[in-house]
Amino acid sequence: MLTPRLTVDLAAVTHNVTRLRAGSTARDLVAVVKADGFGHGARAVAGAAIAAGASGLGVTTLAEAEPLLDLGVPVLSWLNPVGAAFEDPATADVEVAVTSLEHLAAVVRGAARSGVRRRVHLFVDTGMNRDGCDPVDWVTLCARARGAERCGYLEVVGVMGHLGCADDENERHHRAAHLRFTAAVRVARGLGLSPRHLHLSATGATLRTPGAHHDTLRVGAGLVGIDPSGVEAAVCGLRPAATLSAPVVQVRRVVAGQHVGYGHDHAVSRDGWVGLVPLGYADGLPRAASDHAEMWVAGRRRRVLGWISMDQTVVDLGDDAVAPGSEAVVFGPGERGEPTVQEWAEWGSTIPHEVLTGIPARVARVHLGAGNLNSSNHMERAA
Ligand SMILES: *Cc1c(COP(=O)(O)O)cnc(C)c1O
Repeated sequence: MLTPRLTVDLAAVTHNVTRLRAGSTARDLVAVVKADGFGHGARAVAGAAIAAGASGLGVTTLAEAEPLLDLGVPVLSWLNPVGAAFEDPATADVEVAVTSLEHLAAVVRGAARSGVRRRVHLFVDTGMNRDGCDPVDWVTLCARARGAERCGYLEVVGVMGHLGCADDENERHHRAAHLRFTAAVRVARGLGLSPRHLHLSATGATLRTPGAHHDTLRVGAGLVGIDPSGVEAAVCGLRPAATLSAPVVQVRRVVAGQHVGYGHDHAVSRDGWVGLVPLGYADGLPRAASDHAEMWVAGRRRRVLGWISMDQTVVDLGDDAVAPGSEAVVFGPGERGEPTVQEWAEWGSTIPHEVLTGIPARVARVHLGAGNLNSSNHMERAA
């Protein structure tokens, strides 16, 4: 039976990794699978990315990293507080981005207690004033990291930065960030560090700023087919991996002037059929998309009528008495004419990342093209 589901085409992930690597001379690609692989299932996306040549994984915390440690590639985490359990042997193999002097001290203490040398990436703030080390402290950070390396507590395997305007053509910001990054790398090397991985480029810069690639790309959104600049994926050669769908659970006839849904503030303009789709804002549909977004039902786009409710949404079927049980596609790759997640993001005044990461666990994940991956407990083969 058809149920509400997020179908994830892992062949699209494979395609996207190949596409992203083909546009770059960078040797390595770190596949960012934070927030459960942008809602697609971290292990499944990671497995497909590794099979396609990704050489590492990236997430936020030690807790996000731990379940991925058995996949056979280094896992980097970059958002651990100073008080994180750096001494825990279970996560001693997770690579950690170090973002301040206090943070470095905490990581060193943890390594001393766990007895495991910690692989770290020194993370410099290249202009976002968000995460990363304040450039004022960079020389000291590098010098102390080198001292800890000599003592056997650390190995500095990377230097990283992050671009704040990678989603547009804002060359001026790019250039400034890139200069800060290369200067930071020079300082690190000058102080005796030899990082193997230099990484500044996430999806946006991977797609359109080759000068910022260095030797390692660090991409998340692009893996699952999102271009952060808002360009439809197909235009930049990416394939969206996710399709959100559900059965139409009920169909009814309405006459002009009747109201649909909460608030009684949407009246239908003419007689016809409406269909009920069992997905609402608690399933990740942005409520701001009410009364104007579209879904794909029975071979056509159908407009959402009235407010999107917590669990359900009504669509206008016009003259078509669609059979209950028919598939309603909220968004998909767009190949059949169905809306894309990019369109849903625009209808909801947000970005595709937020739509995808907002789809909760109650919407089943179905992974297609799983191949030799058998590690996810909700993996299904192509039907
Ligand atoms: C999320 C994140 C990425 C991935 O960015 P995308 O634009 O999704 O490719 C890379 N680096 C850091 C530090 C991040 O937080």
